Amino acid sequence: MSTPVPKQDMHVHSTFSDGNNTIEENIEEAESLGLQQLTCVDHVRVDTDYLPDYVEAIEHLRPTTGIELICGIEAKLLNTAGDLDLPPVLPEGIDRIYAADHQVPLADGPHHPREVKAAIEDGSMTAQNVIAAIIESTANASEKYDHMVIAHMFSILPKIGLDESAVPEEALASLAETVGRTGNMIEISERWRCPTARSLRPFVDAGVPILLSTDSHKREHIGRYEFGRAVWQEIH
Ligand SMILES: [Zn+2]
Ligand SMILES: [Zn+2]
Repeated sequence: MSTPVPKQDMHVHSTFSDGNNTIEENIEEAESLGLQQLTCVDHVRVDTDYLPDYVEAIEHLRPTTGIELICGIEAKLLNTAGDLDLPPVLPEGIDRIYAADHQVPLADGPHHPREVKAAIEDGSMTAQNVIAAIIESTANASEKYDHMVIAHMFSILPKIGLDESAVPEEALASLAETVGRTGNMIEISERWRCPTARSLRPFVDAGVPILLSTDSHKREHIGRYEFGRAVWQEIH
């Protein structure tokens, strides 16, 4: 109850990927709300080629605002080895890499949640094995990448018919230990309404920085929290 909700939005998309608004418009919105920090985050894949322009745009805008502007990119977790779907060489100036569970990262690569849901239903996979794979992938990504943020952790679970409460305490504690030791971060996602306070508590205990994010694709969603505020207050 003692730590105020930070004036930040650490995950906002722009027209560089699938956002509706330009970075300038997102900054304008954040300024009107009195935010102090804004992280630009856009989607990348292995063959993305806009990054030099993206970094330059953010560097150009930084001196025009009093808001701390952070340059982030978002890539999906590919496999249990923790590889991310990123261009092989990143330009200087990328501050953060958001590792996202957009597909289910299994040993042989990313799988569509629908396919994994069917495999659990027909008994060829177990829910616990799938959860273990997601945890292993995220932990290995944290070992592999610096300045990493776990994006909307467990947002994939409802898509495969599972709930965060099925993730064992020990798995959460182990992942939190890895993320803390490797100096990485995690966000609370307003858009995906995850992770829960229960999932985040081991991260707080491990000293992992907790970021507040909307994952906005429209300026009118920037910096507005209900789920995020409630979880923030519960864990602080
Ligand atoms: Zn995402
Ligand atoms: Zn996103």
